[in-house]
Amino acid sequence: MRHKDFYINQLSNLPEGKETTIAGWVEDTRDLGKIKFLKIKDCTDSVQVIWKTEESPEEIGRLVEKINQNDVVKVKGTIRKSKVAKKGFELVAKEIEVLNKSKHPLPLEIRGKINASLDVRLDNRPIDLMRPRTAKIFKLFSEVLKITREFFYEKGFVEVVTPRIISTATEGGANLFELNYFDKKAFLAQSPQLYKEQLTMGLERVFEIGTFFRAEPFDTTRHLNEFVSLDIEVAFADYNDVMEILANLIRTISKELDKLDGEYKEVLNEKFLEYKDKEIESYSYKEVVNMVKKEGGKINYGEDISSEHIKLIKDLKDKFFFVTDWPENTKPFYIKVKDDGTTESFDLMFSELEICSGGTREENREKLENRITKMGLNLSSFSEHLKFFSYGMPPHAGWAIGFNRLMMIITGENNIRETTLYPRDKNRLIP
Ligand code: ATP
Repeated sequence: MRHKDFYINQLSNLPEGKETTIAGWVEDTRDLGKIKFLKIKDCTDSVQVIWKTEESPEEIGRLVEKINQNDVVKVKGTIRKSKVAKKGFELVAKEIEVLNKSKHPLPLEIRGKINASLDVRLDNRPIDLMRPRTAKIFKLFSEVLKITREFFYEKGFVEVVTPRIISTATEGGANLFELNYFDKKAFLAQSPQLYKEQLTMGLERVFEIGTFFRAEPFDTTRHLNEFVSLDIEVAFADYNDVMEILANLIRTISKELDKLDGEYKEVLNEKFLEYKDKEIESYSYKEVVNMVKKEGGKINYGEDISSEHIKLIKDLKDKFFFVTDWPENTKPFYIKVKDDGTTESFDLMFSELEICSGGTREENREKLENRITKMGLNLSSFSEHLKFFSYGMPPHAGWAIGFNRLMMIITGENNIRETTLYPRDKNRLIP
């Protein structure tokens, strides 16, 4: 690389006396006159750079005096093993170049001593990412994406990318952002639901990781207007099959993160790590309604189960659980209805937070059309989708995980904005 030979975490492997160039940000400076120290960090680690009158050029000493916290620098030096240096070695400065200066004070404290408010941190997200904890959360986000992709590739799934610009509502709801598409009206997709179902005809097993949009003026710690969704759809499967895939994915993520050797310890939720060898419990909708009633909660069969309801049930705190077999009226048109009026559906919860929702889909065109009509939706707006159900649509099932919410559970954070790089809500459109 033009400006550096190594990342800082690679330096410990270098031999005594090796000359090398690093680049990064000044974390700290200490001036003892004849000896000056700079602590330099990059995205991997930090290292102590030392300047002494007798071993480094005079002009570097003068330059070091003008260097401030967060200036971007390039340092050429030699490795010296040292018992007193924290890392067991330091870099003896030979040349220093300031690549860019930083203004002071910074909009927020990045060395973790004073916690700025979430709003200030979000207003300055790139600077917030220089705080070790924030950086760790998003590196962990990337690890979880990697584990997830590997999990599905290994199982023979095909990764797909479906359109974000669509012509009709996916589920018939009104919560879509509208946009001008040349001389037509178009919308931002709220989910890849209909596309992923269609793709089971040719590809059988698909998954997609991408952002989707909901146009509701949410004001909660678990909703955003743009969120990352992990979707799967599997041909010839039912809801039990895809629940098993989901439980297996949670177990795999937990196991793999546990292996990362403490690197993410401070941002990992112990309760999540228990799932490397713990089963996910399962309750029917009816059972949960009865549990809510037993705790004195007010709920009627057929009503949605809210976070407030779940909070009443102490036994469900800090754990994953499935809620299955929801009544027909609580689920979208594409979910398969059983003869008893319940559906082949499930939600995955962690405490009172819904992480995932899925089920067996209806593959019979006539039954689908009846359901769309029964729900008061306009059949003609789904005609382009429904036509494929006449040409060999296989039975299929799938689910969608809110990835930012999953990351809330993995990190133990209680606001979705902590696990979203640039959150979009009704009050926030920048940065
Ligand atoms: P909720 O009832 O919590 O509003 P939903 O029933 O609208 O969610 P689905 O449409 O079933 O959610 O979406 C599947 C998953 O996507 C949810 O379980 C959730 O994890 C995630 N999700 C849905 N809407 C949002 C949102 N606005 N912000 C963040 N994640 C979301």
